Amino acid sequence: MRYAFAGLYIVMVLAILACMSVAKSSYRKIKGAVLMLLTMLIPPMIGNMIIILSTAKIPATIGCYIYFIGMDSFIMALLHFTFEYCVISWPSKIPRYLVHAVLTIDVIQYAMNPIFGHAFDTEAIQVDGRPYYRVIPYLGQTYHRVIVYGIFAAVLVIFLIKMIRSARVYMERYFVILITLVLTGGWQSYYIFSRTPVEKSMAGYGIFGLLIFYFALYYRPLTLLDRLLANMASDMPDAIFFYDADGRCIWANKPAIELVGLKDDKFDRSPELLQKKFGDKYDVSDSEWSGVKTVGCGSKASYYFQAKRTVRDEKGHVTGSFLTIRDITAEQKLLQQERYNATHDSLTDLFTKEFLFDSIRKKIDENPDQDYMVHYIDILNFKLINDVFGTEFGDRTLKKLATFLRDHVPSDGVFGRIGGDTFGVLVPKEAFDEKKLEEDLNAFTMNEGPLEHHIVIHVGVYEVVERDMEISFMFDRALLAMSTIEDEYQTHVAFYDEKIRNDVLWAQHISAQLKEALRKRNVVPYLQPIVDTDGNIVGAEALARWIHPHDGFLPPSDFIPVFEKNGMIVEIDRYMWRCACEILSEWEKQGRDLFISVNISPKDFYFMDVASEIKDLVKEFDLDPSKLRIEITETVMMTDVENRMKVLDDLRNEGFIVEMDDFGSGYSSLNLLKDMPVDVLKIDMRFLTSNSDDVKARTILQNIINLSKDLGMFSLTEGVETKKQLEMLSDMGCKLFQGYYFAKPLPLNEFDSLLASWSA
Ligand code: C2E
Ligand code: MG
Ligand code: MG
Repeated sequence: MRYAFAGLYIVMVLAILACMSVAKSSYRKIKGAVLMLLTMLIPPMIGNMIIILSTAKIPATIGCYIYFIGMDSFIMALLHFTFEYCVISWPSKIPRYLVHAVLTIDVIQYAMNPIFGHAFDTEAIQVDGRPYYRVIPYLGQTYHRVIVYGIFAAVLVIFLIKMIRSARVYMERYFVILITLVLTGGWQSYYIFSRTPVEKSMAGYGIFGLLIFYFALYYRPLTLLDRLLANMASDMPDAIFFYDADGRCIWANKPAIELVGLKDDKFDRSPELLQKKFGDKYDVSDSEWSGVKTVGCGSKASYYFQAKRTVRDEKGHVTGSFLTIRDITAEQKLLQQERYNATHDSLTDLFTKEFLFDSIRKKIDENPDQDYMVHYIDILNFKLINDVFGTEFGDRTLKKLATFLRDHVPSDGVFGRIGGDTFGVLVPKEAFDEKKLEEDLNAFTMNEGPLEHHIVIHVGVYEVVERDMEISFMFDRALLAMSTIEDEYQTHVAFYDEKIRNDVLWAQHISAQLKEALRKRNVVPYLQPIVDTDGNIVGAEALARWIHPHDGFLPPSDFIPVFEKNGMIVEIDRYMWRCACEILSEWEKQGRDLFISVNISPKDFYFMDVASEIKDLVKEFDLDPSKLRIEITETVMMTDVENRMKVLDDLRNEGFIVEMDDFGSGYSSLNLLKDMPVDVLKIDMRFLTSNSDDVKARTILQNIINLSKDLGMFSLTEGVETKKQLEMLSDMGCKLFQGYYFAKPLPLNEFDSLLASWSA
């Protein structure tokens, strides 16, 4: 019997050692406390085993020492483990030191026992015919028991409180340990206090150690997991349907029940209800899938993310499956809204430029057999509209134009806002009706209270011939076409054609060469004589000619309009004025009393200080200002009238003679003429019709000449080609004449020869 227990102890010690080596590889935090507890279990077990086996006093007494002192270490380790296991900590350092102190004292007093014999002694009794040494407790032993029982009781109380306070699913982990401790403690106490020979209670501690090992390191509360998972599934906002291996619905959570309208837990109806809701049959096979389902359409659409997963056992057999359905309508709508905002202009709700270009690209690519037209649409003087009527009115105008596009662009067209006041459209070629478009644009008005404003809209059209061209280039071409609209109010639509293309190329070609041409003096002033009533040449007009090394002789009509458009006219005019001054300066040296008229473009006033440049030039060449006559056109006075008048006044005060060129060719305002600071009226050659019997033209001419006289101006008629015209004009009172009748514009040397022959 004793040997049997001793054998059992050995087996338990070995089992504990095995548990320890397994525990070492655990990742749990409590591992340290468990290892310590298991280690501390071994000495008292060995002590107990020695006592059981001893038949002599000395080994039995040694066994007792090992047992009691081992018990002190074990009780300390048990306390430490309890704190870790129950996740509590010492309230402060003092109680911990106190516990350490009383246990240390216990060890010390045992160490003194051989000297004082105050703790315990052993006495032999006969068990199974052999001596068994049992303890005779003295004062020291009582101290030991008080401490050990005290701490043991504290441990029990901690476990008890922890167990009571825990949720039911957690109780198990405290309950098992508590019961084991109570039983083991009770068993041991029975031996201790009844002094029943052959104490075997350490066997209980062995079992306790193994339980600790399992519960602390390996126990996973399965019921707890089950509960947690079930709660999770119930509380999840997603709908979940669980199916058994045969595809029968066995459970569904609340959102799922509500989603399909399940009643009375009749889960097996769920496939049928799902089909009713989502339109397709629920797949009961063991496949896994996921995707987004749309229910309804347009703004009423709802979106659901659905995923079906199967559950398999360790052998890979399907044990069931589940379907989750999440309502993602809000996210989808937000996403759609964001996508919409990114592709639509906030003011007009039309496509943004980028999205418009992408959409046009797609349309053209997807319909290879369809011919298209691209429209560049612009509101004329939109800045002015904003300034005069306010931005609110401007915004309304843009919105109205957007509505206009919605109403007029066919459904297989594309349109959007390119930016500011410009819009872009793509229409199938056959849907394009120029006449209708002109009419519709002509009827575009904006109301402001009782007032109706006509808004002028210009459209440049490019027929998509080069389909692979970048969309932005297509619009560049349409824009080019639009910019050729000269008569701003009658015509609204212009087409991109070969001429525009060539014009653009030509403009680029000559613009790139102008600087070089001026440097090399390839631009040359030609002089056309101006004759007075006595037939004397009194002056000349300087007219530019470009002697181009490759393109030959270029008349002003080939380059002046290009440079007036891009502003480079400033360079030419500055150059021409200088040439005129050089000639005048030369003439002065030769004693010739002639003037030269130079042309001033309206653009010059934008890009330079005309008055000061001209004054500086005359100063530089030391000329009499009256020798350099200034020709301006009526368009100069179209904008910024006051300032322009000041400039002209300034020049006249300096002694310059200002001429109004091409009078009658533009928007001549007779009203303006009376205040106009000019000395000479150059009457446009259109009044000299080939038909000399044109009474109306003659009447107008006569009146202009009279008018100029009345306003104290000289009149000069351009384009005199015949003797008859000259005589007629002389009779009418015109003072100066210029025209082919006398001479065409001539290069300087020819002009010189003309002068020589003229006086002869
Ligand atoms: P403009 O200033 O009105 O010049 C008179 C134009 O009438 C010249 O044309 C001249 O050659 C032409 N002309 C003169 N007599 C007759 C005639 O009897 N019959 C006909 N059919 N035409 C006649 P051109 O030289 O071709 O110049 C055209 C326009 O180009 C000029 O009109 C002027 O506005 C502009 N221009 C020429 N050179 C310059 C320049 O250096 N600077 C600026 N800004 N413009 C210039
Ligand atoms: Mg002129
Ligand atoms: Mg003229």
